Amino acid sequence: MYRHTLLWFTNNLRLDDNPVFNKARNSEQLTCLFIQHPRDKRTNRFGFKGIGKHRQQFLNQALSSLHSKLSLLNQALEVIESDYVEALSQVILRDQVEHLVTSRHTGSYEQSALKEIASRFPHLVITVLETHTLYGERQLPFALAELPDSFTPFRKKIESIEVDARIAEPDSLPPLGDKQGSTFNIDCSSENAFNGSEQSALDHLEHYFSSDLPATYKETRNGLDEWACSTKFSPWLALGVLSPKRIIERLNRYEEDVVANDSTYWIFFELLWRDYFQWYAHKWGNKIYHQTGPFNRKPLTSFYPERMKSWIEGTTPYPIVNAAMRQLKATGYQSNRARQLVASCLVHELGIDWRYGAAYFEEALIDFDLASNWGNWQYLGGVGADPRGHRQFNLAKQTQTYDPEGLFIKRWGGEEMMLPIDRVDYHDWPIEMK
Ligand SMILES: Cc1cc2nc3c(=O)[nH]c(=O)nc-3n(C[C@H](O)[C@H](O)[C@H](O)COP(=O)(O)OP(=O)(O)OC[C@H]3O[C@@H](n4cnc5c(N)ncnc54)[C@H](O)[C@@H]3O)c2cc1C
Repeated sequence: MYRHTLLWFTNNLRLDDNPVFNKARNSEQLTCLFIQHPRDKRTNRFGFKGIGKHRQQFLNQALSSLHSKLSLLNQALEVIESDYVEALSQVILRDQVEHLVTSRHTGSYEQSALKEIASRFPHLVITVLETHTLYGERQLPFALAELPDSFTPFRKKIESIEVDARIAEPDSLPPLGDKQGSTFNIDCSSENAFNGSEQSALDHLEHYFSSDLPATYKETRNGLDEWACSTKFSPWLALGVLSPKRIIERLNRYEEDVVANDSTYWIFFELLWRDYFQWYAHKWGNKIYHQTGPFNRKPLTSFYPERMKSWIEGTTPYPIVNAAMRQLKATGYQSNRARQLVASCLVHELGIDWRYGAAYFEEALIDFDLASNWGNWQYLGGVGADPRGHRQFNLAKQTQTYDPEGLFIKRWGGEEMMLPIDRVDYHDWPIEMK
């Protein structure tokens, strides 16, 4: 029995299927902590922030929901805006913490903070648990270092392995520490179609699997605009408000009760993509940010500020890209098909270093997940897990296939302000416009 345990929440903002609570039981007192790093709100070397307004709002809702659910168990969520190591050290000293429990994270800042804490507090017991993936590392049928370089061999090796059952919500928790204040004061007003609370995630999951949509997912998943064309699980999955194991449990029930077909299999298939990128990020560490990727491939790119601005604002010569980029800015969401098209456009038509696209997505996406975002961008930048490399989408053909009547383009104003790729020459003189 520990005197005091600290649960450091990162991307596991839920009570359902969260193994960290099992470890907390074995303690006389408990502190639940979330740290928002000020770095996220500063401009990074690519000129973007680590978190934009859509995800911040969604995160605030998730934190508020976690706090409310913990309150029902006489607990509370403490939220500190600070450097990770400073915040953790402060709480460890204040509460005389003996046991620190957290979720395994792909982020290098989270990982190095844990290392630093371990060296500052040698007597502290640190437990890191897997909460973010379908499969744990021990279930992988290969050592992490042997993770295949592309998705298909990974999928073939793993898809027949059973996903572990999820863990139920805790029904009681140890009390708060004596010194912990209860100052939870976060704005969580809602303007977005997505709400970050755990109840919204569970309601959405139930609503989705109570409909006919899973039975046609494979045919509709490439749709550009309709809410119902894909599952929309990603924002909750990214922050860990929804457990991927819970999705599989509900999917299995749907397959037993309603139908099991190619489409229902494909939902599992896409979740395997998600797992693949998580393990890819764990395997390659900081190489997922490297311009040349883990395999040292040569990217085709450079940087043009004016083109970048056009891409972000949706004023390129490509209406479908403009529509998708305007949708992203307005809502924080973009369909998977649209993400592929805008990424291909940034790299191939605009000739820009893929990392600027990834960094902008990090700020703009409501469902930003480090591994999924940087892994997919490396893939499309031709330096990642794509065995074909340098995949370029034909934007005109894609428009014909996915927006034949131009409804998506019209809805998001994709033709409103189309500008030539370059408007200034190398002396920065304006080029005459027709
Ligand atoms: C350039 C680029 C950047 C991306 N960045 C992110 C990101 O930051 N966060 C994120 O969650 N997804 C990202 N994706 C993957 C994918 O586009 C989104 O997961 C998907 O569009 C979310 O909508 P959905 O939940 O309706 O997906 P669905 O089509 O319903 O898929 C179900 C779930 O499977 C997973 N999934 C589906 N496709 C992928 C994929 N290619 N890679 C990893 N997981 C996948 C997601 O968790 C998703 O919620 C990115 C894709 C591209 C091409």
